[in-house]
Amino acid sequence: MTILEAVASRTRVVIAGGGVLGTMHAVAARRRGFEVVQLDREAEARGASVRNFGLVWVSGRKAGPELDLALRARALWSELGTKVPGLGFRAAGSLTLAAGDAELALVKEACTLPDAERRGFELLDPAAVRAVNPALRGDFAGGLLGRADAIVEPRQVLPALRGYLAGDGYEWRPGREVTEVARNAVRDHLGAWHRGDLVVLCPGAAHTGAAGRYLAGGALRRVRLQMMQTGPLAERVTTALADGDSLRYYPAYDLPGRAQLGPQPAVAARARAQLLLVQRADGGLTIGDTHEYAEPFAFDLDEDAYDHLRARAEALLGRPIPRVRRRWAGVYSEVNPDAPGAAGHALYHRAELEPGVVLVTGPGGRGMTCSPAIAEETFG
Ligand SMILES: Cc1cc2nc3c(=O)[nH]c(=O)nc-3n(C[C@H](O)[C@H](O)[C@H](O)COP(=O)(O)OP(=O)(O)OC[C@H]3O[C@@H](n4cnc5c(N)ncnc54)[C@H](O)[C@@H]3O)c2cc1C
Repeated sequence: MTILEAVASRTRVVIAGGGVLGTMHAVAARRRGFEVVQLDREAEARGASVRNFGLVWVSGRKAGPELDLALRARALWSELGTKVPGLGFRAAGSLTLAAGDAELALVKEACTLPDAERRGFELLDPAAVRAVNPALRGDFAGGLLGRADAIVEPRQVLPALRGYLAGDGYEWRPGREVTEVARNAVRDHLGAWHRGDLVVLCPGAAHTGAAGRYLAGGALRRVRLQMMQTGPLAERVTTALADGDSLRYYPAYDLPGRAQLGPQPAVAARARAQLLLVQRADGGLTIGDTHEYAEPFAFDLDEDAYDHLRARAEALLGRPIPRVRRRWAGVYSEVNPDAPGAAGHALYHRAELEPGVVLVTGPGGRGMTCSPAIAEETFG
């Protein structure tokens, strides 16, 4: 019997992990009428799910299964957004801004992709960019509008979803670290067993904890990113923003024109930086990001990368950004493309650890976006 067949005839689901993957599994399980107990080792989730941009980012996904998964998830976010206003879901779309001829040529190429319409792509000249997003008063050669992209509020999403689930059939138990896995059960650090017809472990980037011995083969790796947030900007930034460096990283733009892009500035290349900028509901700007792959990760924050990102944001907005109020780093888990014998193309990692216990993690930088659809795939 498959996991899905087993759970379909049963009722109690234990979820370990209070990040967006665990919480979307709780939503999917409750949607099927299952009783749910959700544990987290912290008093409140503190992992990647509260440290991200809140971007539901469809535009840059690889054609095929990755784009399909992101679009299914986008539809689920939109549906949840109408039921749970606290998610702050906005179908804001995005603008990827081209700095010069080579970036603009690549953006034009992206608009001719066979699936450009599904991504909501449209090529805009500078005047049209400003008509869509009047806050952009800086210099750019044009922009790629990605109508399918959306925004949620990462600091609100998890409590809002738990509030939506609260009541009969859903129990949130923070401060419980899972330390042991057995058939249809997990044990927490206080020694209590939590039994379910299905147990779903969503421990994020905790690769050495309870799931550690099942991950010893190196199927997953971790990635560390730097972020910052400003005080409120007294003007609406109507879309999410990306700079031309994002064209180097997202798989959708792996097109012939990418080879024509000049080198990144040294500081950006070192930090593997791309500018992503999202205005929060309170007007603040969430700005990132960088990518660090080699462990041990830095324990401190690199100011040079922040200087670069700030300069990029100010160049696009055409004015100084408000004072930075918060800085942080976050770590996500992703399928390791370099693992020997690993399915490097997998969009995330799902494995049955013991009968009735399934591990779901490793969605990488698309985890916030794809989480509702990944949870649906667990339950079928
Ligand atoms: C800086 C940054 C920016 C990002 N931006 C975006 C974005 O804009 N859009 C997007 O789609 N994706 C983005 N991502 C990726 C996305 O945030 C992650 O893929 C996603 O949040 C992963 O969710 P998760 O629930 O698996 O992990 P987490 O959010 O890390 O949650 C895991 C939870 O499990 C708990 N836990 C771990 N071990 C145990 C245990 N043994 N027992 C009990 N609880 C345990 C932890 O306390 C934690 O709360 C970003 C990631 C980072 C770091």
